[in-house]
Formats: sequence, C-alpha cells, structure tokens
Amino acid sequence: MTIRNRIALQFSLIVASILIVFSILIYFVSATYRREEFYDRLKNKARTTVRFLIEVKEVDRELLKIIDRNTLTALIDEKVLIFDAKNRLIYASVDDQVIHYQTALLDEVRQLKDVETFSGSNELIGLLYQQNGQDLVVLASAHDTFGKSKLDNLRLTLGWGLLAGLSITIGLGIFFAGQSLRPISQINQQVSTITARNLQQRLDEGNRQDEIARLAINFNNVLQRLQQAFDQQRSFVSHASHELRTPLAALKSEIQLGLRRPLTIQEHEEILKNLMSDTDRLINLTNSLLFLARTMESSNQVPFQPVRIDDIIFEVKDELIDAKPGYRVEVDFENIPETETETLVEGSESLLKQVLLNLFDNACKYSSDHTALVRIGTNAHSCQITIQDRGIGMSEIDRQHIFEPFYRAQNALGYEGFGIGLSISAKLMELHRGTLTVDSRVGEGSTFTVSLPHV
Ligand code: ADP
Repeated sequence: MTIRNRIALQFSLIVASILIVFSILIYFVSATYRREEFYDRLKNKARTTVRFLIEVKEVDRELLKIIDRNTLTALIDEKVLIFDAKNRLIYASVDDQVIHYQTALLDEVRQLKDVETFSGSNELIGLLYQQNGQDLVVLASAHDTFGKSKLDNLRLTLGWGLLAGLSITIGLGIFFAGQSLRPISQINQQVSTITARNLQQRLDEGNRQDEIARLAINFNNVLQRLQQAFDQQRSFVSHASHELRTPLAALKSEIQLGLRRPLTIQEHEEILKNLMSDTDRLINLTNSLLFLARTMESSNQVPFQPVRIDDIIFEVKDELIDAKPGYRVEVDFENIPETETETLVEGSESLLKQVLLNLFDNACKYSSDHTALVRIGTNAHSCQITIQDRGIGMSEIDRQHIFEPFYRAQNALGYEGFGIGLSISAKLMELHRGTLTVDSRVGEGSTFTVSLPHV
C-alpha cells in the first residue's frame, strides 16, 4: 500500500470513528430523552384520570370515558386502566381494555409505587394511587408515534450524514495526502536520474523550510560530498599513475643507456647506482600509496585508547633524529597543564605518531637550519601542538591545496617527497576528531597546528 493511501486510510478511520461515536451518542441521548418525556406525559395522564374519577364527585365513569376519548388525540392508542386493591378493574378508558399486562405487574406497582415498562411497541407505566384508605393501581399505555417517527428521522439523517461525511473525508484524505507527498514523488523522479556520471546534478530544495525541503538539502549535501570523493579518487588515480610513470621512465632510459654500447666498470657502477636510487624512490612511493589506501579503507577499525600526547611527541622526536641525525627538534610547553588529563587524548598511538613524524620531518626538511620548534599547549577542552619552522614557507594558494593527495608547492619540488604525507595526516586528524591547520609565509617559514580534544 502506498504511503498516500495509508495516510488517507488512517485519516478516514480516525474521522469515521469520531463521527460514529458522535452519531451513536446523539441518537442514544435523543432516544432516552424521548422515552423519559413520554413516560412523564403518561404519568400525568394517569394521575389526572384517577383524580377525576376519585376526587371529583361530579364526574362519573361514563363522563370520564367521554372526556378521555376526546382528549386522547395527542397520545396515540392511549389506554388507562384503574384497578382496586383486589385487582378488579374499576375503570377502563377504552372498551376493548387491551393492555397486555400480567397480574404480577399490578403487585410490582403496589410494591414499587411507580413502574415504567413496555406493552408490545407501546410504553406502559404503572402508578400506585393512595387516597382515603384506597389503594388503586393505575396502568396507562400509549404509542409515541410522533416521538418515534422523529427518532426514525434522526436515525436516517445521522446515517446519511455519516455516509456523506465519510465519503468527503476519504476524498479529502486522498487529495491532501497526495498534495503533501507530491514533493517526495518529485524528489524520487529527480533522484532516479542521478548517476555516477552526473553527480553535479542537485535536487530542487523547494522552500528550504519544511521536512521534505530539509531532506532535499541533506541529500544535496551528500551528493556534494560524493562528488568531491569521486573527483578526489579520479585525481588520485591520475596523480598516482603519473608519479609511478616518472621513476619507471627513468629506469627504462638508464637501462637503454646501458644496452647501447659496451660499458666500463665505472659506468656500470654509475648506472646501477642510478637504478638503485630510482628503485628506492619507487618503493617509497608504493609504500606511501599503500599506506594512504589502507588509512582510507580501514582507519575506522583502528582501536582507540587514551594516549599521552607529550610522550608521543618525545618518542617521535627521538625516532626522527635517529633516522636523520642532521635534523633538530626542540620541544617546549606553552603552559603547564593544569590537570594530568590535559595531555591525555583518545586515539591510536601509531597513527598519531605517523601524523607528528610527517609534520616534524617536513619542518626540518623544508628549512635550511633543519630545525622544528614544537610547542605543547593545553586548555580546558583541547590540547594544541604547534610545529614551527623558519623554512621556505608557502603561498596562500599552496596553503589551500597542500592537504590534497600529491599536491606539492612549486618551491618544494627541489626537495624529496611525493605530496602524500599531509593528506594522510589530515585524514587521520579527522578520524581523531581533531584539526590540522597551517599558517605560512613564503620565505619566512610555516607553523602547523594540531588540535585534539583531550579526555
Ligand atoms: P611531501 O613533503 O612529501 O611533498 P606532504 O604531503 O608532506 O608531502 O606535503 C605536501 C606539500 O606541502 C609539500 O610538497 C610542500 O609543498 C608543502 N609543505 C609541507 N610542509 C611544509 C613546510 N613545513 N614548509 C613549507 N612547505 C611545506
């Protein structure tokens, strides 16, 4: 069943239940009111008749019958019977005396003094009349034709009203449900035309206010991110193949050079050394690519635990200086941490090491004094590590691109590297819910800032 029909059905069921309950209530109250009113009229009639018979001396039975017959027009098929203490009928307003009653009813009236019941389709009341030591039982019955026909009318009106109300409700339900869901059908249509080839297409965001517009806005945001991811992947593949082709081409030309003529031993050595360095470059590049791919793929599964960031900084410093003894890393605290937890962050030790190693290495690599100045600062929420150098720096445009895979600034081309390290670092920081920012000026140096929420 479509959502439109389901909403229309639920709406109709709710309205139908309310209408039915109201109709039943109205009918029930009207029926009770009619019956009570009719019983009251019957009782009045019974009292008047018995009073005329017993208390007014001038009125005898025959006269009373005549009066009764002539005043009975209001109450249809009305009969009044009066019985004495021995259940003998002492007065009947009509000759046929047909009121279906049982003697038990007369006893019940004597006991309860006032009984309301039915005689076939007629209403019947019984009253005990006590006057001058006489115990008379008066039975009065009549058919409330007028009231019952009014009730029939009401039932008919309510029935047709209910039917009309329901039809209108169902019609309106389907119409309004269709109206409110139309934007969803439009979105559906638009979404079905989006493929990997036209990810730049966007959904109509309507009034940008209601829930459906917000759905479209969110979907557009997802499309935007998907498009970025696709673009990144495309540029990654083209950059990666380009980077791999350069050393491979160099390898090939070295080999061709060696095959062209017989070589001396020195020349052999020279070519082999070149081959070795190109192969090393290829291995480094492949390792970096592998690491980048693995970080993108499985970084979500890396287990996190509380790690002390200042300890990691000193370990990374030692590792870097061991590997490259010409480099210098100076570590200092910006402020004394107020609590032990201010340098404790939730993360993966090995991944955080990878980020810091890359930043320390870059700072030393791109500065002539090969020195990185590292500062650790903390506040109530986070822990900041700034890595400063007095090196080549970079332009505003370079700053915007250095976190993209394979991007290398023009002034860095003379230095070894593939342009992958910072893109990995940025991704790892995202994973740690931290940030990596840079401030730099060409020729003056750069300052990278890592900010991580502490425990
Ligand atoms: P790589 O250093 O291998 O080229 P990275 O991803 O680490 O790769 O860096 C990307 C680019 O960012 C570098 O090529 C360089 O242009 C720029 N860069 C990074 N760190 C610095 C720095 N400390 N000083 C100047 N430029 C830098």
